[in-house]
Amino acid sequence: MQPFVYCAPASRVIFGDNALSHLEREVVQLGATRALVLCTREQRESAEQVAAILGSRAAGIFADATMHVPIECARAAREEATRLGADCAISIGGGSTTGLAKAIALESSLPIISIPTTYAGSEMTSIYGLTEGGVKRTGRDPRVLPRVVIYDPTLTTSMPVGLTAASGMNAIAHAAEGLYAQDANPVISLIAEEGIRAMAAGLRRVLREPDNLDVRSECLYGAWLCGIVLGSVGIALHHKLCHTIGGSFNLPHAETHTIVLPHSIAFNAPATPDAMHRIARALGSTSAATGLFELVRALKLPHSLREIGFKPEDIDKAAGLAMRNPYWNPRPFSQQDIRELLERAYVGDRPQ
Ligand code: NAD
Repeated sequence: MQPFVYCAPASRVIFGDNALSHLEREVVQLGATRALVLCTREQRESAEQVAAILGSRAAGIFADATMHVPIECARAAREEATRLGADCAISIGGGSTTGLAKAIALESSLPIISIPTTYAGSEMTSIYGLTEGGVKRTGRDPRVLPRVVIYDPTLTTSMPVGLTAASGMNAIAHAAEGLYAQDANPVISLIAEEGIRAMAAGLRRVLREPDNLDVRSECLYGAWLCGIVLGSVGIALHHKLCHTIGGSFNLPHAETHTIVLPHSIAFNAPATPDAMHRIARALGSTSAATGLFELVRALKLPHSLREIGFKPEDIDKAAGLAMRNPYWNPRPFSQQDIRELLERAYVGDRPQ
């Protein structure tokens, strides 16, 4: 067995149908009296529901959370937190809203209560991102890790099935890469395999039964596990590639992960047989890469980069950008390897 270091991030997790009803208890346990509730414009109603649960402990709502946390948005939210004398930030929404809470905590150390409504997994990580002048800067800081996470499947039934499926594949990507991370460890690998299994099983049913709370629970449970993996071990080629091409060519986050994943996994397969065996087993398939590809097809998601607006002339540029920041990957790669990988993802062929 490889030697390893295991470090468990410390979040308190409340999981279950109507778990949101425990919110006030959690705020009281944090000793907070003035919570700032964060959401996107589209989810204002959910934020109002949160504020109503909190009554006088709700200091206000900031409803301008935006994808990739533009610095202007982070500044406005930080100012609002200061103006209201907030002593806690509560995010209700997907990764964009959790990201805004993290941007506040990064400067103020305000404790975060996160109520995720997608499967992005940001709530389980100390990774933050801020976008300034079109460039997204990411980092890790223990202050941004939510203290409490409330997973309530009833809040996820409103997620359109397209977002549900893509967000679920985004979660699977975290766990798949965690299985071959440079700092992988046996406990996180158990969590990763179970996360992929639960998410894939839930996603296969959620298209037909989007309102079934058992199905939604299975997906959200999978999302939690996959988020733990992202928060605990490193990432490699797949995530770096998606961040590069997603950020530079303004592609949708979850769909980019969905399309690229089977191809990055196929590329890394020769160097990571144990991880491939575990991914395939979790998917009930004989091959990790084709199992992922077939799942994407079954979920009726886009499976080629051309479907989401990536241009053939961007392939060379993207391959060049991906080589600029060298990073660890289990299989060494050249610019030509990245080019070929992106060509396959562009066309959307079944990986070999
Ligand atoms: P998102 O948060 O951008 O949400 C997409 C849209 O769906 C928004 O309009 C949102 O209001 C809406 N929505 C969310 N939940 C809904 C629901 N239950 N019902 C109806 N509408 C709903 O999407 P996302 O994929 O969750 O997050 C993507 C962002 O998260 C990216 O910026 C990504 O970089 C970041 N992220 C960060 C980490 C991390 O660890 N820091 C991890 C994963 C993703």
